[in-house]
Amino acid sequence: MSDYPFIEKQDPEVFEALEGEEKREAEGIELIPSENYVSKAVREANSSILTNKYSEGYPGKRYYGGQQFTDMVETLAIERAKQLFGAKYANVQPLGGANANIAMYFALLEPGDTILGMDLSHGGHLTHGHPVTYLTKIFKFVRYKMKNPDTGEIDYDEMRKVALEAKPKIVLAGFSAYPRELDYAKFVKIAREVGAYSVMDVAHIAGLIAGKAVKNPFDFGFDVMTTTTHKTLRGPRGGMILTRESDEIGKKMDKMVFPGLQGGPHMNNIAAKAVAFKEAQTPAFQKYAAQVLKNAKAMAEVFKKRGVRLLTGGTDNHLILADVFGSLGVTGKDAETLLDQAGITLNKNSIADDSRGPMDPSGIRFGTPAVTTRKFTETECARVAELMVDSLEKKDDTSVQKSIREEIRQLCVKFPIPDSHV
Ligand SMILES: *Cc1c(COP(=O)(O)O)cnc(C)c1O
Repeated sequence: MSDYPFIEKQDPEVFEALEGEEKREAEGIELIPSENYVSKAVREANSSILTNKYSEGYPGKRYYGGQQFTDMVETLAIERAKQLFGAKYANVQPLGGANANIAMYFALLEPGDTILGMDLSHGGHLTHGHPVTYLTKIFKFVRYKMKNPDTGEIDYDEMRKVALEAKPKIVLAGFSAYPRELDYAKFVKIAREVGAYSVMDVAHIAGLIAGKAVKNPFDFGFDVMTTTTHKTLRGPRGGMILTRESDEIGKKMDKMVFPGLQGGPHMNNIAAKAVAFKEAQTPAFQKYAAQVLKNAKAMAEVFKKRGVRLLTGGTDNHLILADVFGSLGVTGKDAETLLDQAGITLNKNSIADDSRGPMDPSGIRFGTPAVTTRKFTETECARVAELMVDSLEKKDDTSVQKSIREEIRQLCVKFPIPDSHV
């Protein structure tokens, strides 16, 4: 029987799309580092009856009646989030990572204030001041970047110099495409020296922090963390704001998320966050997080061995950035299309100081959160990496491409997407 018996009966068009996506996810290898497979328990919560309920406000302080159960669920999500990240305060209502960042900026800044963030071509996110976002009309963004893209070391001296000159109100750490750990103590020191808030956007690595596979920025004195809940953390799509101390910063965040920027929270989604956070508290999740790192290292080793240049020379987290144009003469866009045909999904990505444009850059970005959920170990990950380089090296050989597609299909059959993560 299908997972969607009611949709199947009453809405064949939507049913077709859902069934198609079920099959696509089952039969392909997902290497986009911001994607994952949630458990059936998370999906049950996300499609639950709580979608019916309006609950503007916060537990114990709502605008409408009938909140016995929404209060229960939101309190569970908040307490579990605090426990997972060693935070004193959590707001679980932001609808996504971008929304969490926007609320954080508006809570801490006045229009015209300055933010010091990671250079976008060196791994920063759109919401860290990309000119296409409206944020750049309201705030000023100044930048730090890597001293050397082949080691990944951040230029902390330059960063301090820019901070002293530009006097930012926020020193923002965090990234979408940076494979190394940051020196958190240095960020906090510079932020304190110039009287700025220190904020880490952990959207990509939240699950690795919760699973204790990488360091926790709060242990180094960061004031605030913003995050998504659906990347390595393996929850439903959504966002969250955490603060290290329970002080006026948290109160500002609460006011800004609601009523400052959002309306009624999506309680079904908050229930799903609570379920995912409980999964993330298990020893199984810590094992998962550690395996994500081992798998990424195994893939990086294969690429290096086969002569492909990796930005920062490797990886300490879940993601890898490869200069496929520089090393193999295949553009990022062509690599994305070619590998898609082989059943491997990843994305083209600009690399530091890319000589090519953003629509067809030199690099690809890929990572191991989803395949690790599928129970791949280093063996399978190394094999997939070999197949990726084979495919890129022999892009015109149709029989090679066909046999790669077949091997990928068999791997997917052998490693089905699990229903349960505990
Ligand atoms: C993914 C990401 C976001 C945005 O998350 P959405 O849920 O897509 O809005 C914000 N910051 C960073 C660093 C990210 O990687």
